[in-house]
Amino acid sequence: MILYSTNKKSEEVSLKQAVLQGLADDGGLFMPTEIPSLPKAFFDTIEKKSFLDNALTVANALIGKDVPEDALSDIIKGAFSFDIPLAPITDTISVLELFHGPTLSFKDFGARFMARLLSYFVKDGKQKITILVATSGDTGSAVGNGFLGVEGIDVIILYPSGKVSESQEKQLTTLGQNVTALEIKGTFDDCQRMVKIAFNDKELNKKMKLTSANSINIARLIPQTFYYFYAYSKVKSKSKDIYISVPCGNFGNLTAGLIAKRMGLPIKKFIASCNANDTVTNYLLKGIFKPKDTVKTISNAMDVGNPSNFIRMLELYDHDVERMREDIKGYSFSDDETKQAIKEIFRNHDYIMDPHGAVGYLGLKQLLNSINGVGVFLETSHPAKFAGIVEEVIGGKVEMPEALEQFLKRDKKSIVLEASFEKFKEYLIKR
Ligand SMILES: *Cc1c(COP(=O)(O)O)cnc(C)c1O
Repeated sequence: MILYSTNKKSEEVSLKQAVLQGLADDGGLFMPTEIPSLPKAFFDTIEKKSFLDNALTVANALIGKDVPEDALSDIIKGAFSFDIPLAPITDTISVLELFHGPTLSFKDFGARFMARLLSYFVKDGKQKITILVATSGDTGSAVGNGFLGVEGIDVIILYPSGKVSESQEKQLTTLGQNVTALEIKGTFDDCQRMVKIAFNDKELNKKMKLTSANSINIARLIPQTFYYFYAYSKVKSKSKDIYISVPCGNFGNLTAGLIAKRMGLPIKKFIASCNANDTVTNYLLKGIFKPKDTVKTISNAMDVGNPSNFIRMLELYDHDVERMREDIKGYSFSDDETKQAIKEIFRNHDYIMDPHGAVGYLGLKQLLNSINGVGVFLETSHPAKFAGIVEEVIGGKVEMPEALEQFLKRDKKSIVLEASFEKFKEYLIKR
């Protein structure tokens, strides 16, 4: 796999280098120079094979010689040791539950794969690696968990103080060992900005080997393509026209789906389902990309005003909004609409969605109102992670999974910092 920088001012690199670096030297994001197509025969028999087998085929095609097949197979088997159920909601709408990993969000897919891939790449190295990760809620715990106890790797999580749910915060701040949580007095965009500046800071990079585990790291995107193939394999018999709705924040998840489509996955259209943070929705409508300040919503892991993966989407479509519109439909929904959807699906179908999945559901429902086809929406978080809001809306209890209960019992441990890069740098150098 050869990767280029979206800023086009630095050299092409190998997968190993891209994974270790996170961001390119010129501040751009890494994208594959070539996206391979999978043969028709693969799609003809895709439903007969397991998630793991199909994932290995996809990974092999994308990654190529950079990781030998037996090592790749071990990475995939180790990373995806949990269920991925697809549950029907109506005749035309199903939900793909991506929250059965250890931290109960879909971020486990990217983080667990990345942790194993990175360990594979550095297994003979001497230098300690420090992973910086900005999180709006779920990334931090998934990354922390994925890397917990991994020799030679330190993880530093930056999260916006007071802007994550209690259970998210407990999952971020109670891991210990090689995982440290920094509580930043600012927004997620501040955290993301501080991490970005750190990667470009010459002095810091001389002192330590920094890498990123945010969705800007290509190692997070690769495994997120796998479940799109899986979703397709489960519904392909139902219709020729299949739609997948993705609840979007930083747009890493959607970008992975678009890469899957580019590899030949027969998805008619993707739906970029957003909350009030409607920067990309507006771009698709008006053709103008205008980042905004983050708006706080009940689907807080999607509260991103300037989504970092948008540049990758632009690259996939040669910066042509018309071409992007052929593959993506965008919608935004308010918190009230989201709550209404949670209530409706609970009442009519006895299914409990979390606020993020509910936004995905709304996008799919809106599209299927005017079009014949079947659709899958991605449920990205277990509803118990947002029990406060979900229980209020459905007027009943959400069952707490054992894994989450364990986290809630532990004591929070965080280091509070101002939303200033200088303070952050000082902390990194002193520790
Ligand atoms: C991160 C996250 C999202 C948004 O995913 P992106 O890849 O950033 O678009 C949606 N739902 C949940 C629960 C998340 O944690």
